[in-house]
Order: sequence, then structure tokens, then C-alpha cells
Amino acid sequence: MSSLNDYIKFTLDTEDQNIIFSDYSNENINSKIYKIYLAELIQPTCPYCRSTNLKHNGHYVSNIHFITADASKLVTIRLRKQRVLGNDCLKRSMAQSNLINKGCYISNTSKRKILSALTEDRSMTSNC
Ligand SMILES: [Zn+2]
Repeated sequence: MSSLNDYIKFTLDTEDQNIIFSDYSNENINSKIYKIYLAELIQPTCPYCRSTNLKHNGHYVSNIHFITADASKLVTIRLRKQRVLGNDCLKRSMAQSNLINKGCYISNTSKRKILSALTEDRSMTSNC
């Protein structure tokens, strides 16, 4: 039942059905070790007309920085977003995920973690 995809989603606390994790590795970038998760974001239906009659038109790769509980660990999700052309409406679109906002490269989960960390810092200060 459990696959690598399920396991990585469990680890990263993401449940987006349209994200398929396929692999992971360590990469040395500017002498820092990054944990890289490879994933594809699929576009099952046209966002304009909801048709599933789509023509695949390559991928757009974005690197999403993920913040974990241990901030010294650098985690990046290399997300290949499907680009499609709707055969019915002839409109082009790119897969979107609630993991990240359109055009934003910091995951929403990380933003929530930053916010809760700030909240904790504030409450600690006010206890002094
Ligand atoms: Zn369409």
C-alpha cells in the first residue's frame, strides 16, 4: 500500500493528490548539502473548461524551498509542473498546487511554520 510517494508526502506533510514524488537525493550546491525531492505536479483537467481532453506540452521546473523543524537541513522540492493545452478550448495552462501559491517559491507549509515560530518567539518575550 505505502509507496515512496506516500512516504515522502507523509514526511513533508503534504496531501496534494496532484503531486507525485518519484525520487530523492542529496545535492551539494555552493558547498551546502540540500535534500532534493523530485516530484511532478500533474494537471488532470483544464482549469478553463474542466475537460480532460488535454495535450501535454512539457514541464516547467521550479525549486521550492521547504523549511523543516531542523532549520539547518536544507530541503528543496524540485517540482516539474505539467503544462497542457486543452484540446477543446485551445487554452494553455500549467498545473497549480495548494502547496505553493502561483509564482511563489516558498511553500505554504513553510510560511505557516515561520508564522508559528514568530508567534512562539513573541509569547516567550512577553513572559520575560
Ligand atoms: Zn479547456
